[in-house]
Amino acid sequence: MRHDIVILGSFVVDLMGRADHLPKPGETVKGSMFKLGPGGKGSNQGVAANRAGANVTMITKIGDDLFGKVATDFFEEEGMDTSYVFEDKEIETGTALILVDENTSQNSILVTSGACGNIKDEEILKCEDKIKGAKVFLTQLETNLEAVESAVDIAKKNNITTVLNPAPIQPISDELLSKIDIITPNEVEASILTGVEITDMDDAKKAADVFIEKGVNNVIITMGSQGVYVRCNGEERIIPRYEVDAIDTTGAGDAFNGGFVTALGEDKGIFEAAEFGNAVGALSVTKIGTAPAMPTRDAINNFII
Ligand code: ADP
Repeated sequence: MRHDIVILGSFVVDLMGRADHLPKPGETVKGSMFKLGPGGKGSNQGVAANRAGANVTMITKIGDDLFGKVATDFFEEEGMDTSYVFEDKEIETGTALILVDENTSQNSILVTSGACGNIKDEEILKCEDKIKGAKVFLTQLETNLEAVESAVDIAKKNNITTVLNPAPIQPISDELLSKIDIITPNEVEASILTGVEITDMDDAKKAADVFIEKGVNNVIITMGSQGVYVRCNGEERIIPRYEVDAIDTTGAGDAFNGGFVTALGEDKGIFEAAEFGNAVGALSVTKIGTAPAMPTRDAINNFII
């Protein structure tokens, strides 16, 4: 049975071009290929959760434009609920302009959150009943912060489990932190939020201590190819990564979060849900791309066994 997960997050269209070098200021470079696809942390995590077996409702905002249609078509194809995808009449759909140097794999990215950075309080209020009915509420920091705060408020008041993936990193008030049940930064984000330099699991433990002092009871720090550090109600566990052939690690954090909340929604405990997320993250790095690399539940089940 699919359980209801509500995700407030971004949608942007990824516009990716590759060339034999990145253009310098003022230079025009002939590209070798171009690809357009759905992106944004909210959308990526939504797809990951949906494919992992959750019933996902996306709260986001698009423009009244072609790229907005890319979003709704994509969510519908994936089977996600689009009733809470709002439309901005003035601001365009968000975009990420990604330039990749095909020789070095270096990239330059310009992200504009566009409409999903302009979600209004009255729109969040329209989502109140949906949030109240969710098993888990997940959000990130890629939409406007006021929307995140209002939605977390609703979730918290109604005892819905709140998960914050604090990405892209920005300062968060202690008040917002105190309303979060589970925080899921990667090592870089955890480092910036806590002031603890993180290179190994011992450092992750120290960073988790700082989060606990700030009032977050449960901390998950994703450590890339080192695996996952989990602290849950005072108990800790280190989950080693799966040995896989990693070919593209972009979106691994999104895959982890989508998998994690799906398992939480199925009433798994935090440790077990993090193990499930670890598998989803590992599978996602074996394929190129972000959303297209998110594994299905069948692929996850076959992998875990
Ligand atoms: P982000 O994409 O936010 O930087 P991470 O790089 O920490 O997130 O990756 C999230 C999770 O994905 C990791 O904790 C791990 O579970 C999985 N993962 C990432 N890279 C690998 C890898 N090379 N091999 C296996 N699993 C990986």
